[in-house]
Amino acid sequence: MAGTIVWFRNDLRLADNPALDWALTRGEPIIPVYLYVSSEEGDWPLGGASKWWLHHSLLSLTNALGKLGSNLIVRRVDDSLASLSELVMQSGATAVCWNRRYEPSIISRDAKIKEELISQGIDAQSFNGTLLCEPWKGTKADGSPYQVFTPYWKNQVAKGFGTQPLPAPSRISSPKNWPDSVSIHKLELLPKNRWDKGFEIWSPGESGASTRLITLLSSIVETYEDTRNYPAQAGTSMLSSHLHFGEISSNTIVHAIRERFSNAKLPTSIEIYIKELVWREFAYHLLFHFPSTPKRPLNSKFSRFPWVRNSAHLTAWQKGMTGYPIIDAGMRELWATGWMHNRVRMIVASFLVKHLLIRWQEGAAWFWDTLVDADLASNTMGWQWSAGCGADAAPYFRIFNPMLQGEKFDPKGEYVKRWCPELKNLSVKFIHSPWESDASELEAAGIELGSSYPRPIVNHEESRKRALEAYRTISSGVA
Ligand code: FAD
Repeated sequence: MAGTIVWFRNDLRLADNPALDWALTRGEPIIPVYLYVSSEEGDWPLGGASKWWLHHSLLSLTNALGKLGSNLIVRRVDDSLASLSELVMQSGATAVCWNRRYEPSIISRDAKIKEELISQGIDAQSFNGTLLCEPWKGTKADGSPYQVFTPYWKNQVAKGFGTQPLPAPSRISSPKNWPDSVSIHKLELLPKNRWDKGFEIWSPGESGASTRLITLLSSIVETYEDTRNYPAQAGTSMLSSHLHFGEISSNTIVHAIRERFSNAKLPTSIEIYIKELVWREFAYHLLFHFPSTPKRPLNSKFSRFPWVRNSAHLTAWQKGMTGYPIIDAGMRELWATGWMHNRVRMIVASFLVKHLLIRWQEGAAWFWDTLVDADLASNTMGWQWSAGCGADAAPYFRIFNPMLQGEKFDPKGEYVKRWCPELKNLSVKFIHSPWESDASELEAAGIELGSSYPRPIVNHEESRKRALEAYRTISSGVA
């Protein structure tokens, strides 16, 4: 009887993987396992775009393990504990290990699994393979959680973060007999109706993540401070889905940045990039300490907010047919590629909750289904921030003007023209407000408002006033 089961979850990589490293030090045959257990994800089973990513990421991990003479046992099950116990029986393993996840339903599930395996005499161990600082460690001195980012960040800097990443193994010893496994295709993660054509920009898996890291180090990180706000430019790392699925660790990224700029005081641009990684940590901190926030506003006064139900407006927003070009470009980029630039995420989210007065939870649910980087912690924080009801949130009364945001962050209209090609012949002057253009210009640009491109579904000034009035109904003591 010997062997160690390495239970892969959101850590689909071989390098800097503490659970795998621990298994290797035990010196027994290793049984790498992935369990697809949709029923245990609580209210958040994987969305369509995440499933697509997972399919390809599992293929990549299988391939990487195969090169080391190993294998990935894949199963589609309803009960992780029962499945792990069965695998223990079938393989004769004496230990099971994994890297921790932090979603509320998973935390309680994993605690039960660990307890039960230990009671069966199995050495069950869990590790931090995801965060620079786990949520219970980054608290204030009195143990309470931070709700404002700047002191959280200062505390992280004072503690120091990042360790020497663990190397990927060069060999993994295999059991004599492999337990049964299903083909990754049997998990049915790919869409039946192929809406995923635009996803070819992605290379899920550890080597795809490494390629993005190389690009970050060679051409993005030094100019990040200037370029990160312009959605038409490739000015951000696009590492979010690789991070979500654990194909690379934040630790590896921070370490690589430090090595590249060795010992020199990190330039501002690089510090800003690391700060973004720490925003992600902050999101996990909030989710852990406020586990009801994926459903409910952190600021409870917002549960009385007079949200509006309007399915026509919600559909127009989802489809990128609001008549506001920067909103439509963002929503179409999301649909086509499974990703949207952060600046545009903020603009479209603000538009949904303020211009349309639609509940932030509707927007979060749409993002959950369509983002390849859908992440319960970051998505919840992003939406609560945008709605003004979360930690360190944008005040509700600060309402983004989509035309000004477009002019500022897409000054030549390149991003809008890429995703709303029907506007490609419109002059820069009107690219963010086609309805202000005169009839002859529209005709010359081949645009018929209401036909080839929608008229605005709401009036900006009226919506702004309506949002402020709605906010006033709950505002005493909120701001
Ligand atoms: P970069 O600019 O290169 O940043 C590097 C990394 O830092 C990112 O990969 C990400 O892991 C982290 N990061 C950057 N900004 C943030 C942020 N504001 N919050 C948390 N982490 C951040 N991010 C997700 O990963 N998953 C989500 O589901 C998600 N939903 C969001 C919803 C809304 C409404 C908003 C406003 C933001 C959301 N974000 C989410 C945060 C952010 O938009 C993405 O992380 C970022 O756009 C990913 O692109 P990138 O990898 O090029 O980021």
